[in-house]
Amino acid sequence: MSILKIVEYGSPILREKSKEVTKISKKIKALIQDMLETMYDANGVGLAASQVGQNLRIFVIDVSDPKGPIDPVVFINPKIIKKSGAISSYEGCLSFPKAYTTVRRYKNVMVKALDINGRPFIKEAKDGELLARAIQHEFDHLDGKLFIDHCRNRFDANNVLEKYNLPPVEEEYLIDEDFLEQEILEWEKANPEAANKEKEEIEKLENSKEE
Ligand SMILES: [Zn+2]
Repeated sequence: MSILKIVEYGSPILREKSKEVTKISKKIKALIQDMLETMYDANGVGLAASQVGQNLRIFVIDVSDPKGPIDPVVFINPKIIKKSGAISSYEGCLSFPKAYTTVRRYKNVMVKALDINGRPFIKEAKDGELLARAIQHEFDHLDGKLFIDHCRNRFDANNVLEKYNLPPVEEEYLIDEDFLEQEILEWEKANPEAANKEKEEIEKLENSKEE
């Protein structure tokens, strides 16, 4: 097993569509082990094959408590078969060192994929839990999409990217998500206290990074 180099934003491979895995060979299994090791080494909750320079439809996720035992989930050739609801999510990405911004996501997703032994399984994630957001984030990587394509505020996102010497948001990749935005705004209007608390927590996180 080895720790692989993580590709950074600006590299063309992050914008390519990944290919289906046709056989789960020894080489593929070794790649998956390396991806897991690389993800844990970088303290990430998810990693897609394109982020280590392999254009294959594979990602790994572990949303378990970092202090507890590991709980890796491997997704090969995944398909999102159901999605609903909307949520605002404060996200970063191992290919964007330190840069976080607020993006739009679906609240609930159901995904179908193959595990490392080629057996199909279905995973459901609800209520905007970390797993739901991580699945969408990693799934996007397989189609050359990045979290900043879902940003709620392009100017905020650009400020953060600039701060960490990363290229700005690429306009042609921005995703039109009026429906999700509408639903998020309605939720914020109906839950002003919770929405404010969320904002304050993000600000606190941002400020603590500056020290
Ligand atoms: Zn990512």
